[in-house]
Amino acid sequence: MLLSVVVPCMNEAEVLSALLARLTKAIAPWGKEAEIILVDDGSTDGTWAAIAAAARDVPQLRGLKLSANRGHQAALTAGLEAAQGARIFMLDADLQDPPELLPEMMAMMDQGYDVVYGRRAKRKGESLFKKASAWVFYRGLNALSDVPIPEDTGDFRLVSRRALDAVLTMPERARFIRGMFAWVGFRQVGIEYTRDPRLAGETKYPLSKMLRFGIDAVTGYSTTPLRIATRLAFYSLIVTVIMAFYVLGSWLGGQAAPGWSSMLMALSFFSFMQLMALGIMGEYIGRLYTEAKRRPLYHLAEETETARSSGEVVSILPDSREA
Ligand code: UDP
Ligand code: MG
Repeated sequence: MLLSVVVPCMNEAEVLSALLARLTKAIAPWGKEAEIILVDDGSTDGTWAAIAAAARDVPQLRGLKLSANRGHQAALTAGLEAAQGARIFMLDADLQDPPELLPEMMAMMDQGYDVVYGRRAKRKGESLFKKASAWVFYRGLNALSDVPIPEDTGDFRLVSRRALDAVLTMPERARFIRGMFAWVGFRQVGIEYTRDPRLAGETKYPLSKMLRFGIDAVTGYSTTPLRIATRLAFYSLIVTVIMAFYVLGSWLGGQAAPGWSSMLMALSFFSFMQLMALGIMGEYIGRLYTEAKRRPLYHLAEETETARSSGEVVSILPDSREA
């Protein structure tokens, strides 16, 4: 199998036939060496019936049906785990990501890349709120994240077998797949495209899901929020010191009401102490969290010829322990 296409579908009955028409055309050059995996993520419309019917006509089509709605990222994971191809192409069902970009992505991968991701240069037919929130989200995420995550990308990408296998070794349950591909490394390149409006139907990402997704992203790639207390403690210490001088001045000048100095000092000193204690806890919880994720420490991209042919045991240590 040379190529697998993975598409998560939730209530996408309206777009399925158009999707399959464009997809089968796009994968035609690979003929029988390609498969299309449609994952039905607990749809309540005729999506599964449509997939099952289409599977009778399209030999390359495989349908998977999840037991219930598990969300976009889980549905995508199910498809990725089932994929058998040497290269894996993933896109949304609503044709916002053009399947016609496949040959160009394939050509880029031929140059030795492991991940070719689509970068949304333009977004058509999306609300101002969606565009603005996405813009803020990707910039904010990168400011916090320990791994650079390409901005304005979605799950539209072509990946190599080894990049996919690396992602599949990551056992975390809160999956932010675009970040996981960024994290595994290897050689990556972006390709700009115009994101079309959804072909039909409503967005399956209401605000509540978007928020969940955003929180998964930030907490999955950064422990910075946990450490905020440490930083606040530091600022609070500075304020305490400044205040100490002010209080001392007022006291010496005889302008201080009785009890005021000690009150103020106690208040600001104890806020500092409390924030400090919270910060220390944050540091430990951050480490507990990182360990609990049990992410693999590294994936090998290459090995030197000599090391392998001489049969020597080389210990390959990861450059750094990723958080
Ligand atoms: N999707 C899914 N499960 C969900 C939500 C969405 O499988 O719980 C799929 C959906 O069918 C589509 C993709 O995820 O193929 C992206 O969803 P959508 O296009 O609605 O998101 P938007 O483009 O509006 O962000
Ligand atoms: Mg969409």
